[in-house]
Amino acid sequence: MTPTQSAARLFHRAADLLRLGDRQRAALLTPERVVEVELTVLRDDGTPATFAGYRVQHDRSRGPMKGGIRYHPAVDRDEVTALAALMTWKTAVVDLPFGGAKGGVAVDPAALSAGEKQRLTRALTRKIADVIGPDVDIPAPDMGTNAATMGWLLDEYEQVRGYAPGVVTGKPVELGGSLGREAATGRGLLFAAEALFEDLSHTVADFTYAVQGFGNVGSWAARLIHAAGGKVVAVADAGGAVRRPAGLDVPALARHAAERGTVAGFPGGEPFPPADFLAEPVDVLVPAALGDVLTAATADRVRARFVLEGANHPTDPDGDAALAARGVTLLPDIFANAGGVTVSYFEWVQNAQRMRWDEDRVNAELRAVMRRAYADLKRVRAEHGCDWRTAAFVLAVGRVARATALRGQWG
Ligand code: NAD
Repeated sequence: MTPTQSAARLFHRAADLLRLGDRQRAALLTPERVVEVELTVLRDDGTPATFAGYRVQHDRSRGPMKGGIRYHPAVDRDEVTALAALMTWKTAVVDLPFGGAKGGVAVDPAALSAGEKQRLTRALTRKIADVIGPDVDIPAPDMGTNAATMGWLLDEYEQVRGYAPGVVTGKPVELGGSLGREAATGRGLLFAAEALFEDLSHTVADFTYAVQGFGNVGSWAARLIHAAGGKVVAVADAGGAVRRPAGLDVPALARHAAERGTVAGFPGGEPFPPADFLAEPVDVLVPAALGDVLTAATADRVRARFVLEGANHPTDPDGDAALAARGVTLLPDIFANAGGVTVSYFEWVQNAQRMRWDEDRVNAELRAVMRRAYADLKRVRAEHGCDWRTAAFVLAVGRVARATALRGQWG
């Protein structure tokens, strides 16, 4: 099942519970605007190369649209459209005054030099400059892009439009980025877990964890869980997997990964086949790398009692059903990994205020947002007797539907 199909299925389940009519469903599902551009840039050897770029703006009834820009060979119109809708639901779950958007270029970023990547980013910015802006649509990093990419986007936009730091988030701190943004998604995962465990009369320190992915989300989640007393016993990345049943020394692992580019070869743990990762005997599984890893074929192997979704769409609907049948409690991506977009919102607010918050304030405000969203989800779950993912879609779709209704868009 593609992300579009599974997101549409979750949307309709929520729309059924909310008793939305066909016209409302069509309006909520259809993107506001789809921009498709051709980008021609010069390679370092002087030859031109052409790439397809996209910006899909899904919904703006709750505020300016917000979403990352992805550089990846699999980027296409369908994927970007599905991800744009997911951003609308994610910003609504955590109640940010934003809508959803997404962008991307079909390109392998590893095959580009820094100069080529910069020229590509500037070309994309020129082509979408008319449809983005601090009060319209605010890009951010996603797979294959980072703070440096956002710095180039900001510069290209400001060359013509003048000072506008709020046009993009996830930019370098020196250019108006927010303190705490780098760790925000991992920290949001920690706050989500804390809220859930508290309800069960437990703390993060009571459990063992396996974290798949040791990039931005996975490494910060592992570091913060470790700092909170949780025992991280297994970690995997694209290079391999390591485990230590007594608990890995995560700061030492992070230093190793920073030096070697992978967790593989870490002397403080034993290597094991990454194919066995999902079956590790832990309390909490944190998929924080790829999409579609928990499916009908793999979910039966999971031995964890809890799944915290750090990645986007790590579980497909069949995987969901298999985990639910076994009593696994799952906190879904559009809530659990919303810490990143939440601190992006704080960055945008700081840019508008022309001031900088200190990191403690950023983290405290993030905690408040995650805990409020958790309480909202709990209320919706009790109301509808549903799982956390359905509750997240009901909360989000309900909020967006209400905003469009209040605007009088449905007559
Ligand atoms: P990243 O590129 O920093 O890290 C990805 C990690 O996944 C790397 O450690 C990589 O080695 C690992 N990986 C790749 N293939 C793997 C495999 N087959 N098995 C195990 N590990 C593998 O990316 P990121 O920013 O950490 O994003 C990870 C996921 O989280 C993505 O789905 C992304 O969309 C989602 N996400 C990211 C953010 C954010 O703020 N960065 C916010 C929300 C959601």
